[in-house]
Amino acid sequence: MKLIKVKGIVIREVAYKDNDKIITILTDTLGKVSAIAKGAKKTNSQFLASSQYLVYSEFVLYQNTGYFYLNSASVINTFYNLRVDLDKLQVVFDMTKIINSVTDENQDCDKILQLFLNTIYVLDKYDKDKKMITNVFKIKLFAILGFAPGQDKCSICQKKLLDEQNKLIYYDFVSNVFICADCKKDVDERRLVKLSFPTYSAILYIIRSQIKKIFSFELKKYTELEIFGQVFTDSIMSGL
Ligand SMILES: [Zn+2]
Repeated sequence: MKLIKVKGIVIREVAYKDNDKIITILTDTLGKVSAIAKGAKKTNSQFLASSQYLVYSEFVLYQNTGYFYLNSASVINTFYNLRVDLDKLQVVFDMTKIINSVTDENQDCDKILQLFLNTIYVLDKYDKDKKMITNVFKIKLFAILGFAPGQDKCSICQKKLLDEQNKLIYYDFVSNVFICADCKKDVDERRLVKLSFPTYSAILYIIRSQIKKIFSFELKKYTELEIFGQVFTDSIMSGL
């Protein structure tokens, strides 16, 4: 029996038979996998903690007749503060729902795991705006998945947008591109989201920075970023 060691976080748990659970784990090396945790519902089970939603552990798995089973597990982080804060838990629940819908079983998702762990760590430790955290997470998630909009040039006149510091910049969610204030008149206004230059720069920063640093930026107001995050991810998810 070949044993496979992975690190991963449980993003879904389902009761199975009388005492077992099927858990979906976002892992560092196997992608997203479902595994059977035998006896996990018993109070004396060695998998009692590690088979719970949102617990990050080191798992030892084995495969039998096409299914993964837990052989052993040791908990790394239970994110306890998140579990006892219903507002934060709701935010996490929404994030895992999105992750589940955009990832396939066994698809490589090391970066998505890093992003998710980093985001819930920030949510757990700091008192930052929850809506902002969700939207930064979503923007980076879809950038990792390859959906980042055409970024630093106006898609119509090819002008460099980083030189347009005193002007507004527009996001065209139908084409998933940015356009400059001068070209705005050529586009149907209903498909445009207006962004101030600082918000546009923050979006670029989130898309381009290392996962660990995505929350290291400041804006006076996050409203535009939240609207962008919502529109950007909704339009992509509706096309998936
Ligand atoms: Zn232009």
